[in-house]
Amino acid sequence: MRTVYVNGQYLPETEATVSIFDRGFLMADGVYEVTSVLDGKLIDFDGHAVRLERSLTELDMRAACTKEELLEIHRELVRVNEITEGLIYLQITRGSDGDRDFIFPDPETTKPTIVMFTQNKPGLADSPAAKKGAKIISIEDIRWGRRDIKTVQLLYPSMGKMMAKAAGADDAWLIEDGHVTEGTSNNAYFVKNGKIVTRPLSTDILHGITRKAVLRMAEEAQMEVEERLFTIDEAKEADEAFTTSASAFVMPVVEIDGVVLGDGTPGPIATRLREIYLDESLKAAI
Ligand code: PLP
Repeated sequence: MRTVYVNGQYLPETEATVSIFDRGFLMADGVYEVTSVLDGKLIDFDGHAVRLERSLTELDMRAACTKEELLEIHRELVRVNEITEGLIYLQITRGSDGDRDFIFPDPETTKPTIVMFTQNKPGLADSPAAKKGAKIISIEDIRWGRRDIKTVQLLYPSMGKMMAKAAGADDAWLIEDGHVTEGTSNNAYFVKNGKIVTRPLSTDILHGITRKAVLRMAEEAQMEVEERLFTIDEAKEADEAFTTSASAFVMPVVEIDGVVLGDGTPGPIATRLREIYLDESLKAAI
């Protein structure tokens, strides 16, 4: 039985509740973050806190608590749930004023809802999936236009993962106007002749915390990085490909739409970046 956090209280998971009128539930009017825990410590907490703040600001939502309080809650949940390797999920919604209405409630009288819980994932870093590499398919990107805001509107990404599963693959990359935007829950990259290519930041993609760290580490390791639009055909002709996310770190991609990349095993650059990322992030974890 997990201990979870809801609106100022630590409770057994079966006793934690939110209103049926909560706008997160009725309107997907909420934002979230997922922070990894390795060695009992938080990976890139600061990056997540800064992005959370930005998501809230973009949606005109109030912060439910300060960054220091957030850190304290994260640490307390890790401690009481004895998490060595796993994830912390955080969601803040615009709350509930006791009815359903499209109009935002007055923030002076309606407090945001904040919920946090842990997911225990032993073996998160030493993942068999990362040793094998992921098979992905490409699907159309039909999401809304503000993908830089980390909202809880995850129905299409969820459908994308179901399409991948039905096709015998692990995940999907999304295509808009002929170019790859990102993965259903990760940022997308390919490598050709030693150069790492990924889409530049805009409102079209989530500004991945892992993306930022991995691109910095790649440049520090003298790897060549180019941020530009790319097609799925370029990725299929690549030497290797990979994705990044806070929960899967650097994940090699070995197959795209049935086309095997290289020898069908994780490529050297993705493998090296995964090692560097895990190493450096663990050193900086708090
Ligand atoms: N892109 C999308 C659509 C995502 O949902 C995520 C993570 O959930 C990412 C990218 C990767 O972001 P991060 O590295 O911050 O986890």
